Order: sequence, then structure tokens, then C-alpha cells
Amino acid sequence: MIFESKYPDVKIPNVGIYQYVTANQNKISDNKVIFVDGITDEKATFGELKRNSRRFAAGLQDKIGFKHHDVLGLISPNHIDYPVVVFGVLAAGGKVTTVNPKCTASEIAFQLNDSGVSVIIVHPECLNTVIKAAKEVNISESRIFLLGDREIHGFRPHRSLIGDREADPVSYSPEEAKNTTAFICYSSGTTGRQKGVEITHTNVIASIMQVIPFSSFKTRDIFMGVLPFFHIYGLVFIVNLVPVLGASVIILSGFKLTTFCRCIQKYKVNFIYAVPPIIIALVKSPSIESMSSVEIIFSGAAPLSKGLTDDFYNLYKIPIQQGYRLTETSAIVTLSEEERIVSGSCGVLIPNLQVKLLSKDGHELGYDEPGELCVRGPSIMKGYLNNREATDATIDIDGFLHTGDVAVVDRQGNFFIVDRVKELIKYKGFQVAPAELESILLSHPAVLDAAVVSSFSEKESTEYPIAFIVLNPKYEKTSSISNEIQKYVDDKVAPHKKLRGGVLFIDSIPKSESGKILRRVLRDKLKTGDVKF
Ligand code: AMP
Repeated sequence: MIFESKYPDVKIPNVGIYQYVTANQNKISDNKVIFVDGITDEKATFGELKRNSRRFAAGLQDKIGFKHHDVLGLISPNHIDYPVVVFGVLAAGGKVTTVNPKCTASEIAFQLNDSGVSVIIVHPECLNTVIKAAKEVNISESRIFLLGDREIHGFRPHRSLIGDREADPVSYSPEEAKNTTAFICYSSGTTGRQKGVEITHTNVIASIMQVIPFSSFKTRDIFMGVLPFFHIYGLVFIVNLVPVLGASVIILSGFKLTTFCRCIQKYKVNFIYAVPPIIIALVKSPSIESMSSVEIIFSGAAPLSKGLTDDFYNLYKIPIQQGYRLTETSAIVTLSEEERIVSGSCGVLIPNLQVKLLSKDGHELGYDEPGELCVRGPSIMKGYLNNREATDATIDIDGFLHTGDVAVVDRQGNFFIVDRVKELIKYKGFQVAPAELESILLSHPAVLDAAVVSSFSEKESTEYPIAFIVLNPKYEKTSSISNEIQKYVDDKVAPHKKLRGGVLFIDSIPKSESGKILRRVLRDKLKTGDVKF
């Protein structure tokens, strides 16, 4: 059966994101402060956002010949200038690919090259890595600008591109808005390596419109902006949503419990977008007083157990709305209703979306029957960039995106994510693609074959990537060689991808007749303890 949202469809304006975000639906004044740096207290108003993004767009066009459909790579932790860059590129008719600032030079080089970046804006703390990455893919240093207002080693700041002229923001016909890519975010999807997910203008606007019936958003809301803006979750629900609402957001470049709590108290934050590790930290080190202004917390990106939701509520008396989503759906698929939170459930289907749950042999299932969640609607990605094969393997002919997550829905319409049939591993909400780690493992001379799966760490309450390797017989099975191999991988990847689960020896990697790694067999071995450490 096809599950429909119990909420009526919302009308989605088919316009460009820039027009939508700056339309000022809630009639706020240009002096309204939208973005606040939680550390320096620097502020940016709605009027400044509009003016500076149009001036930045003009600078891109006039000073460096940035054209319609060009791609800008933005590599930075959360920063008060991030939104100006994003909306400036959109006003100039371009696309943004947002890069995790913790990535290594070769990971960044891959994304810059794959997405066709022609201009880079980088935070000074990532400059050295980005210079190496740009060199690898032949992007001239003259195309690299620093986020902010400081010139360093001859690299000009992005603010030097902001002159007096304000660009006329590029507008789109309804058909163009549906088909024009605005953001290229990276995800491994159900299998293989990282792929560029093409998120269109309509995808982003739909994502925002679809959650509005679920939330009692107000212009006086103060959001906490700690989720990484490079991830589509933060990009849509902080960078894009907050100016649409005319609310304000306190920007933090990373999560540190004491700073986080101090900012909540100082700015009277009432709405927090979080991920389970933040909830865990707040439960482990309660800070009840500092949270007194918080009305609701929203958690997504990874499972939030019933136990944790209840422990948090018992301590703080603050409800947690859980959402389920993936990069490929741009935003939310299911979300708990503010007034009817069922702990452990990731909520009910949001408007404009349809879901089917499929059995292993492809049959549509009904209530209380776990199956692969497939979803269709206006927020579903256009496809994987330059990868028709992966797109066709993910979006079926009826337009349903196959998520690789196994869900069950009860008769009240509550969804529960119960398993994952895709390869993906999630470390604290961040993606780890086994295929990427396996290819690094295979480049080590001591490794004949390799497979990476997830093991659950009770200590950190998250998944860890763990490697099974077939050792080259020239080497002895010792802990020093497994440590060496682990270090070899860890040195080549961003911190969230490190092989925290370790490296285990196995005689052969279990594979299907077609050569596909049987990951479940390996995961079962871990569960039963049938492995040599
Ligand atoms: P990403 O594309 O990085 O956002 O990762 C999406 C994946 O995160 C989904 O396919 C799920 O496997 C997982 N995920 C996101 N939200 C939830 C949730 N509420 N419960 C369980 N898994 C989730």
C-alpha cells in the first residue's frame, strides 16, 4: 500500500530560493537581527543579508566572471558570513557545493573536481588543506578566496568582492525552479562512494513548506545554529529556514557543551536543532538551569532511542521532536507532531510525501510490517550528479526514492526506523561510506581483501566503522600490523571516518556469487563474538 500524509498538501511556490527566502513573508523590518555569532556576538540583519548577498553576487559576476550555473565550493565551519556566500551564489544564478571543513586534501579535491567547482571560498583555518586540494585538481590559486575580511598570504577575503553594485537576483520560471540545481551535497547513498546529490530550488522550498504545519514557528524564535551548515540538514533548516521565518539564530562553529549551554542561557534560545550526540551529552552532564528558555528540541540525522528521549524528558521536561531524513530527500520525511510525541518513533509522514514499504522481494507491505522505506514527493533530489546509473538504481520508475532504511509504521501512522539495508555507516550523524575505506585498505601492501561494516559502541552510543581484512601471508597476524593498517587508513580520512572499531583478521571475506560483500554475515559475526581481536 501507499502511505499518504494525514496532513493536506501544502502549496509549494515554484520560484528560486533567493526570491523565496527574501520575500519577507512575515513582514520583519530590515533591522531585524537574523544571524548572531555566539562567540563574538557579531550580528547580521535581514537587510544586510539581502544587500550583501546581492553585492557579493555582483562581485562574483564582475570581478571573477562567475556565470549562471557555475559552481562555488564553500569550505568552512559555521560562520556568520556563510549565508551571504550561499545567497550571493544563488542570486548570481550559480550552485553551491558545501564541503565538510574537516575533510583531508584528497577528499576535498575529489569533491571540487566531481562537482565542477570554479571558485572556492574557504575559512582561513582550512586554507592550507584547500591549497593542496586545489592544486591536485588544477584550480588556480587566484580562484581561492578567504571567508571573512582578512587577507592572508596574498589570498583575498571574500568581502573584497563586495562592492557597491547590487546584482539583480536571477529568477526562475516554475519549470526552471523545479529542475535547476542549487546545492550539491555529498552522500554515498545506498552503496559505493560519495556522490553529488543535486538539490533543486524547489526541493529546498518544499522542504521548508512541508515542516511549517508541524511547528509553531514565530518571528521571535531564537534558534541554536550548531548543526554543520555544510550538511543539508543545517543548510536547509538553519541557513535557509531562519530568514524565511524572520527568526534569529545563534551560530556556533562546533559543539562544546559548556559554550552551547552558555549561549542558550545568554541569548534565551528557545528552539534547538540537534543530533543524538548532543542529547546524550545533555543527559550525561545535566545543565537544567541553562536550558530554561528552551521550548522544544528537534533531533535528526541518526536514531534517537526511546530510552534516551525519556531520560531527557524526565530531566529537562522539554519535548524532543524526532525527524527522519536523508540528504537525498533534502529535508524531512517523517516528523513527530509537537502535541503528540511518541518516544522512539521518528514521527508521522509530512505533507506532500508518499511512502511505500517494500519487502526484500519488492512487494508493497502494510501497517506493522517492516520494509525498505521508499519515498516520493517534491523534496526528493533531482538525482546524483553525472551519475545516471546510481540515480536510476535509487529512484524507481514511479519516482520513489529507495532509502535503504527499514521502517515499520503503526496504525496511528507513527514511523519507526528499525534497520538499515544499505552499506552506510553513521558516526554521530556523519556519513561513513564503507567502499571508501575499503579502497584505502586495499592500497596497503599487507591487505589482500577487505570489508568495512559498523559495530555499535555502547560507550559513545554511535556506530563505529570496523574493518575485516584478509592479510597477505607475507605478514604475520599481529596487533602491530593491525594497528599499522588502522593508522594508515586514519591518516588519510576526515576524523569522523576513522576506523574507530579497529581492524580484524578474517580468512576470507564472505561474498555473494556476484561478488557482493555479505556485510550482514560480518555484522552477525561481531554480534556472536565469532571474530579474532
Ligand atoms: P544523511 O544523508 O547524512 O543525512 O544520512 C541519512 C541517513 O541517516 C538515513 O538514511 C538513515 O539511515 C539515518 N537517519 C537519519 N535520521 C534518522 C532517524 N531519525 N532515525 C534513524 N536513522 C536516521
